[in-house]
Amino acid sequence: MSSGHKGNKAFLPSKICLACGRPFVWRKKWQAVWEEVKYCSEGCKKQKNKASKKL
Ligand SMILES: [Zn+2]
Repeated sequence: MSSGHKGNKAFLPSKICLACGRPFVWRKKWQAVWEEVKYCSEGCKKQKNKASKKL
């Protein structure tokens, strides 16, 4: 019947979280800063900051 042609929603870029080491997928909230995103969540971001403060 209909060939669902709704754009390329299937393809989303992904990265590995530097804190937990798990892959995470592009989200719309990151569209402006995707190049700078390093963590999958705020929790991981805080965790990493906490860890790296130790010198
Ligand atoms: Zn993470």
